[in-house]
Amino acid sequence: MSSKKAINLRRSLAFRLTLWYAGIFTATTFLAFFLLYVLITQVIEGQTDQDLANQMRKFASLVAVEGTESIRSVAIAEAQAGGVKKFFFRFLYHNGQVFHSSNMDYWQDIKINRDAIVALIKSGRPVFETVIIDKRTSDVRILYGFIGRGVILQVGQSREEYSRFLAVLRDVFILTVAGFIIAAAFIGWFMARRALSGVATVTATARSISRDALTMRVPLRGRDDEIDQLASTFNDMLDRIERLVMGMKEMSDNIAHDLKSPVTRIRGIAEITLTTGKTVDEFEAMGASIIEESDRLLEMINTMLVISRIEAGVGAVEKEELDLSILLREACELFHPMAEDKNIDFTCQVPSACVYSGNLGNLQRMIANLVDNAIKYTPQGGRVALSLSRTAAGAVTLEVKDNGIGIAAKDLPHIFERFYRCDQSRSQEGVGLGLSLARTIARAHGGDITLASAPGEGAAFTVTL
Ligand code: ADP
Repeated sequence: MSSKKAINLRRSLAFRLTLWYAGIFTATTFLAFFLLYVLITQVIEGQTDQDLANQMRKFASLVAVEGTESIRSVAIAEAQAGGVKKFFFRFLYHNGQVFHSSNMDYWQDIKINRDAIVALIKSGRPVFETVIIDKRTSDVRILYGFIGRGVILQVGQSREEYSRFLAVLRDVFILTVAGFIIAAAFIGWFMARRALSGVATVTATARSISRDALTMRVPLRGRDDEIDQLASTFNDMLDRIERLVMGMKEMSDNIAHDLKSPVTRIRGIAEITLTTGKTVDEFEAMGASIIEESDRLLEMINTMLVISRIEAGVGAVEKEELDLSILLREACELFHPMAEDKNIDFTCQVPSACVYSGNLGNLQRMIANLVDNAIKYTPQGGRVALSLSRTAAGAVTLEVKDNGIGIAAKDLPHIFERFYRCDQSRSQEGVGLGLSLARTIARAHGGDITLASAPGEGAAFTVTL
């Protein structure tokens, strides 16, 4: 494995999760064993003390019934029965002088503890001690106690058997725990890899998306867990990016297509005049036409720039307190002559004041586009009504309604797209950017535009802000 790969593995989440898993498992198991070990040791010690106390009671009742002489043979017999390397008995006077014992060959190193005898005499209660004999693996538990008037018994028991048992227990445990730790590391690694497999899929998809197509999506596993949520958020983000990229592509296609026509027209006008034109009047007419076409072109480019800027949120649109009623009245005055030319009944119904915080220039553009369209697409003698109201929830509703040519159902889903124009309006001037701009402005103000229309029955555009 290369060093880079090794570093990556060490940094990986799966590796660290595995370490945590194995670490916590090891610590918990050790703690459990330690507690078990302490418990067993205490039980064993308690058992030894119990055995010694039983011996003490046995000799005390023997002395009480048969006197001190009888204990000699019983001590030897008891030591032999229990095992001479396991038990010993020593009988002393309260001054510490030994007057009798079992076979002490194996117990040479066990001395008489004067302090224990003093403590026994003082308290009158049995005294325990633990003695470690050099070069022996186990310790010896000893009990001092009175078994008759002035007669003390020192009885000892080797804990070798228990020590051996505890040593075996330790070995078994260490082996078991070692096995468990290895298994825990493997299980932890497997579980971490399994839990994080979704992340790897997201990463793989992200990588292939940057290389290939935007249409790829991370498959959901249907578990509705954190990984699924990550994948679904990631997919949502991809949806948005795809829409944005498609929108940009569409726009650049449209721009290329729609700029081509006016430029071709300008070129055509210039070409015809240059090849056939003879008089100054003809050249003047060519100049005027070229200026007119160029103005249209500039208007179109400017509108596209405004839409792009508002959509991209470049140079955060400045907002100010303004009165929408005044804005609408001004629009009415502005478009009144145009409506009058077509003999259109143009009405404007607005409240005395409607304060709103928005961008003056953009709102004026939006209203102008809607009113301009309404008059443009309404035949002679028609009707255009402008109204403004505020809902109970505080939203502002602006409606531009006409009884003009209306819009066919097939055009409705596309009407707000850039450069989209309905077939029946091709005879009218326009480039198909007005409604797109109006909706962009409404949305930049946190609102939207809806449309209700049918062919021949007019159209009603409602802006909610
Ligand atoms: P333009 O008016 O420059 O063509 P717009 O974006 O303003 O572009 O409008 C797009 C299209 O929607 C128009 O070409 C027209 O077909 C249709 N339209 C807009 N407003 C109305 C209306 N009030 N009545 C009927 N059709 C309309």
